[in-house]
Amino acid sequence: MTDSERLLVAAIVGRPNVGKSTLFNRLAGRRIAIVADTPGVTRDRQEAMASLGELQFRIFDTAGLEEAAGETTEARMRAQTDRAVRDADVVLFLIDARAGVTPLDAHFAQALRATRKPVILLANKAEGRAGEAGVLDAYALGLGEPVALSAEHGDGLVDLLEALRPHAPSETETVESEAFPEGMPDDGDAALPAGPLQLAVVGRPNAGKSTLVNRLLGDERLLTGPEPGLTRDAISIDWQYEGQWIRLVDTAGMRRKARIEADLERLSVRDSLEAVRMAQVVVLLVDGERGLDRQDLTIAAHVAEEGRAMVLAINKWDSVTDRARRLKEVEERLETSLAQVRGIPIVTLSALTGRHVDRLLPAVMQQYARWNCRLPTAQFNRWLAEMQEQHPPPLVSGRRLRIRYGTQVKARPPTFALFVNKADDLPESYLRYLANGLRQTFDLTGVPLRLMTRKGKNPYAPD
Ligand code: GDP
Ligand code: GDP
Repeated sequence: MTDSERLLVAAIVGRPNVGKSTLFNRLAGRRIAIVADTPGVTRDRQEAMASLGELQFRIFDTAGLEEAAGETTEARMRAQTDRAVRDADVVLFLIDARAGVTPLDAHFAQALRATRKPVILLANKAEGRAGEAGVLDAYALGLGEPVALSAEHGDGLVDLLEALRPHAPSETETVESEAFPEGMPDDGDAALPAGPLQLAVVGRPNAGKSTLVNRLLGDERLLTGPEPGLTRDAISIDWQYEGQWIRLVDTAGMRRKARIEADLERLSVRDSLEAVRMAQVVVLLVDGERGLDRQDLTIAAHVAEEGRAMVLAINKWDSVTDRARRLKEVEERLETSLAQVRGIPIVTLSALTGRHVDRLLPAVMQQYARWNCRLPTAQFNRWLAEMQEQHPPPLVSGRRLRIRYGTQVKARPPTFALFVNKADDLPESYLRYLANGLRQTFDLTGVPLRLMTRKGKNPYAPD
């Protein structure tokens, strides 16, 4: 396993300034679960061991070649491409999602397609909303579904890991099968992806996170203990529930215990935000004795913004006296403060006594499945037509806006492109109408949805 020749080798390529070095540093010598700052790898070092989740691989950054390869952009591009083709198993091709697809990106894409090397298209700088359009544009490069990434913030690394996995040589897979003794479910098993469901339990200090995690693991029989390599700062735990591997990616509540920090509240929210980035489904644990407060809502809003699936668990239900009132209060606060994600499931439980803890994972699995949903285009368009008939989009300077065509461009979270006859965006209220309709019609309750409008016809349909 130490023989580096047997490891997957990935080249990082792209035009200058898209974030190649940032990604390199992010991946180099760090484990995904470790959030503490370690001294960065310097820019002139072009090769490094990388690890993401269970996957160990080698990376090289071609940013240095830009200076070496001389003046012309073509020369630099060629140098990068040649090197990647010669030395890599897979190419990580970055574009800047904020800048959108530039002519140089398109050239690069063409050169890479011609090499027939596997390419993973990364739309970098995609944190927040600013990169959404760029992610959508990236489809036009003809390199498949782009992975939305933020090298700087560490978002999207889980998706990158998933994109890399199929390219890993079998030696590397052994690492995985050690971690998953019963064997992972095969690809194509239902609609769900084969990898583990990445789960984070977050919440304020004292909400009961440690108690809940211990309870969950106790109930579900822990198969793999905390990995020694990860215990310094974070713990990653894998176990199986109803045939689905679940990886607990962050246990802020557990590691906080080892620290003495003055500003516990702030630290805890920061921990939670970090955990959200690594997770696919987030359980926001709320102290039922206190109800849903401002900090809980900050975390919840962040989860929605990041497009993760969420389950709200109200803990300490054993010691809540006026349960009906408390539940109603939480539901109402959630609906008003988080109107963009209607119907987040709420589970009341007691981590301490174990009561109703068994309701949590089914809710998690359900949200995970919804979050992974892919709607067939024909069905989606039939639905769009009906929605527009029932409630037509508004007039803009005397002309009616019309959605000509729509398609789901990605899952996790479900993201849809709508092609409109005019450049003006559909008003926010109409998008909300559609999002709520989608949730109702296609059983997507409580899942963050992305709707993006474009002018024109469907650019991806074969002519
Ligand atoms: P390279 O020339 O491709 O190696 O790009 P660098 O890694 O040097 O990054 C170029 C600039 O983009 C730097 O200012 C980075 O801080 C910034 N950058 C890199 N990744 C991200 C990201 O995910 N989001 C944002 N907003 N900026 C990023
Ligand atoms: P963390 O800071 O979120 O990890 O919270 P802990 O798991 O350390 O729990 C904080 C406190 O709440 C401890 O005293 C727990 O015993 C208590 N606690 C946790 N779960 C429950 C519960 O379901 N009911 C009650 N009554 N107390 C609980």
